[in-house]
Amino acid sequence: MLTEPTADGSVELAENPPCIECGLCREVCPLFAVLRQEHLSPRGLALLAEREVASVVFYQCTLCRACKEVCPVGHDPDGERVRARLVARGVETEANRAMIENIRKYGNPFGPLKEGEIPKTLTCC
Ligand code: SF4
Ligand code: SF4
Repeated sequence: MLTEPTADGSVELAENPPCIECGLCREVCPLFAVLRQEHLSPRGLALLAEREVASVVFYQCTLCRACKEVCPVGHDPDGERVRARLVARGVETEANRAMIENIRKYGNPFGPLKEGEIPKTLTCC
């Protein structure tokens, strides 16, 4: 496995260990707890990512990384990188598109806000 030295001399794993399909992560995933669908479990998402499936299902992941905490090999779902790849390929949800546009235009994901104003809607992927 690849390692990279850090500033303090310790080493960090540079390679994301592949999922070994044990399923331990499923019971700690908030997404799977609600939807109970294998393709939306951390294991399902790991297998879809491994096969480079470009699908909006990845936007359902909350990026909480509870799955990584219990994973025996430390597989990281790396949702941010997966989403970046999807955006680069034009695979996005409407909400994601709106959030990115708002951040570019207004510096926040909600859109135009007056000083101290609380957003009326929360946009989610
Ligand atoms: S990071 Fe995503 S896949 Fe992992 S536990 Fe959280 S919601 Fe589930
Ligand atoms: S992500 Fe980790 S805990 Fe989940 S099925 Fe794969 S190897 Fe097991």
